Formats: sequence, structure tokens, C-alpha cells
Amino acid sequence: MSWSGWGDPARARELPEQVRTLLHDLLGVRAPAVPAVALEAVRVPPVALPGPLVEALAGVAGAEHVLTTHEARVRHTRGKSTPDLLRMRAGDGSDAPDAVVLPGSHEEVAGLLRLCSAERIAVVPFGGGTSVVGGLAAARAGFAGVVALDLARLDRLRAVDTESMVAEFEPGVRAAEAERLLAARGLTLGHFPQSFEYATLGGFAAARSSGQASAGYGRFDDMVMGLTVATPAGTLDLGRAPKSAAGPDLRQLVLGSEGAFGVITSLRLRVRRAPAERRYEGWRFASFAAGSAAVRTLAQEGPVPAVLRLSDETETMIGLAEPDAIGSGGSGCLLIAGHEGASETGRRAAVSALLARLGGEPLGAGPGEAWERGRFSAPYLRDSLLAAGAAVETLETAGFWANLPRLYDAVRLALLGALGSPLVMCHVSHAYETGASLYFTVVTPQDADPVAQWERAKAEVNAAIVEAGGTITHHHGVGRDHRDAYAAELGPVGVSVLDAVKTRLDPAGILNPGVLVPPATPA
Ligand SMILES: Cc1cc2nc3c(=O)[nH]c(=O)nc-3n(C[C@H](O)[C@H](O)[C@H](O)COP(=O)(O)OP(=O)(O)OC[C@H]3O[C@@H](n4cnc5c(N)ncnc54)[C@H](O)[C@@H]3O)c2cc1C
Repeated sequence: MSWSGWGDPARARELPEQVRTLLHDLLGVRAPAVPAVALEAVRVPPVALPGPLVEALAGVAGAEHVLTTHEARVRHTRGKSTPDLLRMRAGDGSDAPDAVVLPGSHEEVAGLLRLCSAERIAVVPFGGGTSVVGGLAAARAGFAGVVALDLARLDRLRAVDTESMVAEFEPGVRAAEAERLLAARGLTLGHFPQSFEYATLGGFAAARSSGQASAGYGRFDDMVMGLTVATPAGTLDLGRAPKSAAGPDLRQLVLGSEGAFGVITSLRLRVRRAPAERRYEGWRFASFAAGSAAVRTLAQEGPVPAVLRLSDETETMIGLAEPDAIGSGGSGCLLIAGHEGASETGRRAAVSALLARLGGEPLGAGPGEAWERGRFSAPYLRDSLLAAGAAVETLETAGFWANLPRLYDAVRLALLGALGSPLVMCHVSHAYETGASLYFTVVTPQDADPVAQWERAKAEVNAAIVEAGGTITHHHGVGRDHRDAYAAELGPVGVSVLDAVKTRLDPAGILNPGVLVPPATPA
């Protein structure tokens, strides 16, 4: 993984000429004056952890699994949001952990948490490092040091129960590897977020991820049947049946806990038979309103395709749903319907009939295939846009159908108000019977301080989402960036409950300090 951008540096791409022209002519983007620094030039603070504590960590995980090199620290600094990348490109490694520790078992994780609690060392669980909400930048104040707990060595498929259709994985398995391991047995998880090639199963559970095929396979939290979690207070082993009436479901307390309550060391996940066929098709609707109505009808009356995504007019015009063909979009609004499975013919015919009845114009397999080809390449495009001087970032929210137009307008207006004349694009990324999520992409010229520029805009968008009655996140999670808005969603009693759980499971407060849990306020 590139330390200052996305993915495999060998796959980095030049911006096509039509995109350069678009940026220059439409937005007035100019190349930044200062190029990105080299890895060796990133400034990290001196290692704060005293030598005896580094040795104590090595005593639990093994000396070869405790790294304090400049490169290891840089590679575990923050996540992959645009401000994260901009800071790294500018050589700002101020959030670097003091050490990177790679445990090899649940027992080692538990031992490290005991040690770090006793010595007041902050611990940041680190999966694929793809957080886009500041979930990997722990607050340092009051701690002897900060350790990134990299789960990469916990990378095994432990067991597959094909009768129950449950597979047990360790948390550090990346999604692409999980699919490869399952495909060898004719199975799939069906979880394909855009971060698929790098994000881990533990990270998906910890941040309540949603994938591009979640309409058909469900969100990641729907797939989690059981979890083992190491906490400073001891081990939680949750989930002995698919559903239960035995009180509140504590699995739900772990899902979305973003490393603040414990470290997920094992996951029991529902799997499905791998589809014999995948077919993605395009449809055109006259307007976002007409397309949204069709998506709502599909979600409410069914059948629902595995992939269901509707771009608004601007996103369609730019061609963002087909990253390989940016700048060549058409008019109206593009809907992608993806069908997966052996018995999809009947379902596909029913979906097509419904979309046609609701005003959709069939575009055939071309747009769907282009979307499929480019579905994991947009993050590479972001790197090229940043290098060219554009600030580009994504954000998402969700709401009930009746409130969705208000939410859409509120986010757009907040972005326009904060950034002047940015390009704001949106698509319905996930649809449910009662509502949907809206996923925005914004492009604007970088100003002299692009991190501050984005932080101002993001603060306004967060406030607008709260005010318009949406949730602050549908699938990116809370981290530090959404913590205050999350607190506003919970209210003071909710915040005190969260705080009580944190205090019980992590009495020394070492786990991801500053992430997820807002400072407690009197109820
Ligand atoms: C280009 C790009 C595209 C993305 N697309 C999507 C998308 O389509 N859908 C989506 O849902 N998200 C998406 N994301 C966000 C991100 O990939 C998800 O939040 C993902 O769940 C993070 O997984 P990870 O393994 O990288 O976790 P990390 O980023 O390493 O960690 C995320 C959070 O979980 C905690 N954590 C990690 N592992 C564990 C563990 N085992 N136990 C306890 N806590 C843990 C971390 O401390 C952190 O707070 C995208 C991000 C990028 C950069």
C-alpha cells in the first residue's frame, strides 16, 4: 500500500487529457506549487516510549514483531482520507505511532492490552489502514506513548461450516484474500467495498462497512454471526445462534466500536454460494427524482438486484460511475443494476420490467461492465487529482425516503457555501425499504492550505446533516471526524451509556483514545 496515496504505486495513473481540461476549464484548478515529499523526508516525532517499555512489548509479541523504524511508523500514520493524504504528501507525520506491534494470536493481543493498560500506552488497532474518518489517529496526551497494533499476522481462514454456511476468520484477512480463500470452496462473502483490495474483515466489523453489492448480500454487520474480542477487562465471546431473544445483542456493541472497546480477534461470518453468473446493466432515468422513485419502488416491492446504484445528473454527466471514462457521461441519471447468481434470470426480468414501467430506458450491459471494470480504480484517480491541484473528497449520509430530498439539498448547499463553486456529485449508494444512503464526491481547486480548507467545509456539512435529520455516516464510521456529530445524534444520555461501556471494558482508556467516544457530559 502506498504510504501517501492509494494502493499499489505501480497502478498509479496519469490523468487523461479530457480530465485535465475539465479541471482547468470548469474549476480553474492549477498544479500545486509544492510537490509531495519522499517517504524519508516525512517528519515524525522522536519515539516517546522508553526503551524498557519497547522491550516489554517485545516480551509479549517477540522482538521481530515490534517495529520502531521510520518507515514502519510512517506507514501506520493515520488512514486514507483526503486530509490524511494531503498531510502525508506535505511530510507531516506528527501522528505517527511510537511503535508498530504485530501480535500473532488472541492471547498475545490480550497480553499486550494488559501491559499497555498497566503502563498507560495508547493502542490503535490497525487493520488495512483505510479509515477515512480519522479512526487511526489516537490522542497522545496523558499516555507514555502510542502503539499501532497491526493485525496483519492474524490472517487465517480458521474453519468453514458448509452446513450452517458460516466461516471463521481472523481479523487481519483482507477482503480480496477472504474472497480468494472462499472461492476455492465455491463460496463468497459478497462484500465488495471500494476499499476491497486492502481493507480487512476486522476493520469492516469495527467500522460497520457496506459494500457495492450490499443490496443483495447485506451490509457487513448483517454477515457477522459471532465475534471474539480481547478487551483490557477480559475476553468477550459473542454469538451462539443466528438470532436470539437472550437480552440485548452485545454483538451490536462491538460492531461499529472502532477499536475503542476492544480488539476483534476472530469473526464468524455468514457465507453464500458463489454466483455462477454476474451481470451488471445500465439504465437511464430522466431525473434524480424519477430514478430515486424507481429505486425506492424496487427496495419496497422487490425484487432487489445485488448492486443498485443511482447517480445524480452531475455525476452522470461527469461519468463518475465509470471511472475509466471520466468526462464522457451522458444526460439524465445513470442507474446500475447488478445481478448475481445462478437463478437470476427471473429476478433480472422482474427488475427490468419494473424499471421500464417506472420510466427507465435500458442501456444494456455496456455501462454496467464499465462500472465493474472501474469499480476499484477511483481511489487511484483521487491521487492523480490531488497531484494535479484539485481537492477531492467523498462523504456519505443516510435518511428515510421522505427526508432524502431535504438531506440531498442540505449537503449540496453546505458544500457550495463552504467551497465557492465546487463540482458536487452524488449517488444513491444503498437502498432499503425505508430509506437510502447518499454518497457525495466533491472536487474543488486546492487553496494554500487544503487541509484547513476541507476541514472548514466538512464542519459545515456535518452540521447540515445533523440539522437536516440524517445520520452522520452510513458506512464510513465515526472516528474523530464524526465524533461530535455522533454525540449530537446520541444525545447526552446516549453519550453517557457509551462512556460507561468504555470505562467498564477499558478502564485505563488506552484503546483508540479520542476515537468514537465523545467526552462524557452530565446526563
Ligand atoms: C478509497 C476508499 C474507499 C472506501 N470505500 C468504502 C466502501 O465502499 N464501503 C465502506 O464501508 N467503507 C469504505 N471505505 C472506508 C474503509 O475502507 C472502511 O471503513 C473499512 O471498514 C476499514 O477497514 P480497515 O481494515 O482498513 O480498517 P482500519 O482503517 O485499519 O481501521 C478502521 C477502524 O477500526 C479499528 N479496527 C481495525 N481493525 C480492528 C479490529 N480487529 N478490532 C477492533 N478495531 C479494529 C481501527 O482502530 C479504526 O478505528 C473506503 C476507504 C477508502 C480509503
